[in-house]
Amino acid sequence: MCGIAGYVGKNKANEFLLNALKKLEYRGYDSAGMTVLNEDGSLSCVRSVGKINELEEKMKKEKEMTGFVGIAHTRWATHGCPSEKNTHPHHDCKKNIFIVHNGIIENYKSLKKSLEKSGHQMESETDTEILAHLIESHFDGNLQQAVFDCLRHVDGAYAIAVVSKSDPGKIIVAKKGSPLVIGIGDGEYFVASDASALVGYTDRVIYLDDNEMGVIEKDKYKISSTTNNNQIHKEHCKIDLDVSEIQKGGHDYFLLKEIFEGPEVVQNSIRGRIISEKGLVKLGGLEVLDQKRLRDINRIIIIACGTANYAGMIGEYMLEEYAGIPVEVEIGSEFRYRKPVIDSKTAILAISQSGETADTIASLQEAKRKGALSLGIVNTVGSTIARETEAGIYNHAGPEISVASTKALMSQIVVLALLTVYLGRTREMSMITGKRITDELKKLPKLMEQVLDTKEDIKKLAKKYSKYNNFLYLGRKYNYPVANEGALKLKEVAYKIHAEGYAGGEMKHGPIAMIDEDFPCFFIASTDSVYDKMWSNMEEVKARKGKIIAVATEGNEDIKEIADDVIYIPKTLEMLTPILTAIPLHLFAAYMGIEFGFDIDKPRNLAKSVTVE
Ligand code: GLU
Repeated sequence: MCGIAGYVGKNKANEFLLNALKKLEYRGYDSAGMTVLNEDGSLSCVRSVGKINELEEKMKKEKEMTGFVGIAHTRWATHGCPSEKNTHPHHDCKKNIFIVHNGIIENYKSLKKSLEKSGHQMESETDTEILAHLIESHFDGNLQQAVFDCLRHVDGAYAIAVVSKSDPGKIIVAKKGSPLVIGIGDGEYFVASDASALVGYTDRVIYLDDNEMGVIEKDKYKISSTTNNNQIHKEHCKIDLDVSEIQKGGHDYFLLKEIFEGPEVVQNSIRGRIISEKGLVKLGGLEVLDQKRLRDINRIIIIACGTANYAGMIGEYMLEEYAGIPVEVEIGSEFRYRKPVIDSKTAILAISQSGETADTIASLQEAKRKGALSLGIVNTVGSTIARETEAGIYNHAGPEISVASTKALMSQIVVLALLTVYLGRTREMSMITGKRITDELKKLPKLMEQVLDTKEDIKKLAKKYSKYNNFLYLGRKYNYPVANEGALKLKEVAYKIHAEGYAGGEMKHGPIAMIDEDFPCFFIASTDSVYDKMWSNMEEVKARKGKIIAVATEGNEDIKEIADDVIYIPKTLEMLTPILTAIPLHLFAAYMGIEFGFDIDKPRNLAKSVTVE
């Protein structure tokens, strides 16, 4: 998820490595480290929590790194808090093999157990360190062979770069699910997790594909398959070196990049957590709890602010419908000043991307004082909420740079669906229902791609509707929170427009008074249990000459009779539709903000992580 750099060649490795890490800073990270194989056969490794500057300062105090081969990393913690011990590079027992890794090793627990049984001693809580020891267990002087042998036992996503004192002069790289690029220089090669790190060094690159590995030396390289070890011929490409464009993944803004990362984020959130054939979900973060205590919970209070609060509302509907547990959703700033009724059978579930939202933390502390079981859904490992809760689930959405949250919302909804199956299956949910939900979760990334493909149509819609000053967003049941989210996103990034989200049925209790030909309404009208009710609401708006933009399920041609514009989403389970319906609303807000010339990554007056009351 975060940054990898590697160097082998004629110059001192640490110079490129440090520059590359600085260029990867935009991705967000919590710690950084570097290992260089020195000329005298020794090895230097420096790691530090915090910014690259701190690593640089630390390097100045250590013995000078003189070698021409090295690897470096910026870490975004997924397994274990940000700490020096957990920072990459990680090493084996003999400090002979060093590795940096992006991604998640799904089966690290079982690998760790068997490695520990055969005498390996781990120093960190990371999944990555297991790889160093697994490579060690296969190493007999040939690092490439040992990495190949190791990877056959590994499930999950990775981009790795490995060096060893006992097989010096080379870096072994491999990739599956996380990006890795090799830069070709003159008598030198570079490795990076994204091409922006290579700017100023080379514009000739080889992109590794999944299940490929490479051996890189100063004057040659070889790419082979991690499945059968056969050599693979790869073409070089020339990259266009516009750093900001590369950093934004070819998009003009991080907000757009993050919306388009949605399918990958969902994939990462479910990775290793579904046992399909049994309709079960595995959530390591909850396994630390006494499962009887979890089963005895008879009420959940979800605490969250902003977009996370809407994820919570979707979670409320899921948990009540499928796990049969009563749920309430509260805004942090309200909950903390009320006198909530809580007992030991109440679980408090805090949802926060940053894990630092002040009002959510205060509410969590209040509920804990009153005896609630404390749980969290957090994206940032080691954050305050992650530490203050008894158990929790990480989103694995990767760092979110844009202030307005989009990809974190997607992962929060997915995690809530996983939690629903986890809790539901220990209660009344059948295996068949568990399987239906988990099978559908697995299909989501593909379905999301389909919705993202409508981007040009949505861009046109944003242009068409940019002259209006107000918008109403309407939805029911699972898509009522999505209506709120659509309106919030428009207010956040296209703040010239005033927008409100409402439950469809509430329109007649007030907002309908505002409807006229200058008041467009977004209807989230997927084909589901409340579709007919949404249709009635559309009639009411049409009768008052209001404009209608509908988000509907593909195949629904009738809706064109009533709506001025329609955006289609593919069919999925009703409880999962928010993941698809939120996409056009996010895109619409983003394109509208761009239409007004706003910096949609940093809307005025807003902060990414709201750490104050
Ligand atoms: N899973 C690894 C860790 O937690 C790698 C995280 C990353 O991609 O930065 O250390």
